[in-house]
Amino acid sequence: MSTLLRLLAEKPVQWIFDWDGTLVDLADHPRAIRVPASLIRDLGTIQEHSSYPLVILSGRSLADLEEFIPLSDITLIGNHGAQWRVGGAKTVIPPDPQAQASLKALTEPLNGLRDRFRKSSWEDKQFTISFHMRQVDRRQWKELGEQLARLVEDHTHLQLRPADACWEIRPKYGATKGDAVQMLFRDHPNSVRPVVFGDDWTDEDAFEAANQDGITVIIGSRRPTRARYHVATPADLREILSQVARFLLSGQGRL
Ligand SMILES: [Mg+2]
Repeated sequence: MSTLLRLLAEKPVQWIFDWDGTLVDLADHPRAIRVPASLIRDLGTIQEHSSYPLVILSGRSLADLEEFIPLSDITLIGNHGAQWRVGGAKTVIPPDPQAQASLKALTEPLNGLRDRFRKSSWEDKQFTISFHMRQVDRRQWKELGEQLARLVEDHTHLQLRPADACWEIRPKYGATKGDAVQMLFRDHPNSVRPVVFGDDWTDEDAFEAANQDGITVIIGSRRPTRARYHVATPADLREILSQVARFLLSGQGRL
């Protein structure tokens, strides 16, 4: 904590958080997460005392993020960097039309896989697809992954990426979390320091983009990672944010 406060005091920072598995605990289903009121309160406090808006950078759709995070000043970036809400204005990075057509073409085959693998589900997030397997018998995970890989390899504009108990089907040439971090800092590359928190493979792009000057923190035990620091659990990160919020409310500093 003292190292963090020292680094935070050196120059203005911009906080960038992944959501699931980072700020909130993973749940059996993406709709089943629990969002502690204290987390929203602490994020709001940090936002009020920060020179740059807090950023939530997630694989979820923007609509999903807005539903769970009732803080209008926070920058929300959904679909791994494809959908942005900055200061109330929403923009979309235009998707690759061929990838969009391929995603649509997967509807039937994915329904077929969902019916074959008990308790699996898939989610159309408009620009990407998540295939969830947290509730699927673990012995079937490998086969499910192989079947998905076979489906996706027929579509040259799509890629399959692993995530937390889930596979992401994404445009091969679409936005990544690393692109999003680069866009955030394009206009002020040296005057503000990124502080990036994440837990899964898709966050590695963001760590890489931020590592030159940034503070990068992985949540949990997944390794290897490009992050320089680690925090054991989302609850531990929430506790750190509580301490930062209390420090800011005490009037001792600003970020
Ligand atoms: Mg995550």
